[in-house]
Amino acid sequence: MSKELETSFATLKQTIPLLLKHNIPAIPTNYAIWYTYVSNDSPELNATIDATIENQQVISEVKAKEWYRNYLADSQEVNAWQLRQTLEAMLIELSQNVSDTRSDTQSFNRSMDGCLEDLNKVEKEGWSLEEVMGLVRNMVKETQQIRQSTLGFNASLATAEKEISRLRVQLQETEKDAYYDALTGLRNRRYFDAEFAANLKNETLSLIMVDVDHFKKINDCFGHLMGDIVLKAVAKKLKAHCREGADAFRFGGEEFVILLPNTNLAQARHRADVMRRAIEKITVVNKRTNDSLNDITASFGVAQLQPNQSGKQLLETADKLMYEAKRLGRNRVMPVC
Ligand code: GH3
Ligand code: MG
Ligand code: MG
Repeated sequence: MSKELETSFATLKQTIPLLLKHNIPAIPTNYAIWYTYVSNDSPELNATIDATIENQQVISEVKAKEWYRNYLADSQEVNAWQLRQTLEAMLIELSQNVSDTRSDTQSFNRSMDGCLEDLNKVEKEGWSLEEVMGLVRNMVKETQQIRQSTLGFNASLATAEKEISRLRVQLQETEKDAYYDALTGLRNRRYFDAEFAANLKNETLSLIMVDVDHFKKINDCFGHLMGDIVLKAVAKKLKAHCREGADAFRFGGEEFVILLPNTNLAQARHRADVMRRAIEKITVVNKRTNDSLNDITASFGVAQLQPNQSGKQLLETADKLMYEAKRLGRNRVMPVC
């Protein structure tokens, strides 16, 4: 075994127990991530993984995908990996085709052998012209059949090629957008749903619902563009104030949600209040119109996952509390303590 092969074999041997330990599905991206982790080729990846483990966060499928994208591959390479998988599936299909062609070829050969024998008979046994023509017709038919299956094989190859280039374009377009909100750059609802489901196993999970106050008025008075600038600024503040494995997502419209693993209600309330004060301090300026806005506020609902509570129920609790904060005059965190 070459030195290089020996090293990669040893790395692989360490990788597999890690996958088992962290309950990670043995798919190629995960192999790549943990293989790189063991070989310490990407210190940033190792730091991220170590922090995640330290915070006892769940390593969900989306998270693994994101690491893969951020640390192991630019999107081109992700595409290449996906393409390889598709190619493999296609190869299986093609090889099926090849074996069909091969068995066709074998029966063709057999029938050609038969024809040659018959040809011998023509001389030996003095066949009639009619009989010879029958033989020739048979040979032509067999040849056409084998040509047909070769053509079929070539056609599958051409289809596969077309399919590959279509996939390449499609992957480039969809890969990144699937989990990120284009306006704020935060992870989107889809990402949240996956992360949330994966984190429900977390023993001390809290959730913060955030809704910008009187946002419609901002749109109405200053225009939709200014509204967008406000949303970006709020998103930035929320993200900046996430700590220890907490994550901010755009829930939809002017609503955001923060997921806080290993955080109890009191700690999450504190986090929410820090975020609330940070939003109060935002000033946004529309450079085109010189409009400036500095009375942006948001209302917060905070809840901690209770034993036997479903994710849906936790979301509903946080949402109700957020509306309670609105009712009590906005720009506040509920519950009070
Ligand atoms: P409240 O304090 O009760 O939450 O009042 P509100 O005006 O914030 O709430 P409402 O639900 O009445 O209005 C939300 C508005 O947010 C309506 C919608 O047009 C606007 N909105 C949603 N998404 C976007 C966006 O991406 N950009 C902008 N500019 N506005 C958006
Ligand atoms: Mg709203
Ligand atoms: Mg609102």
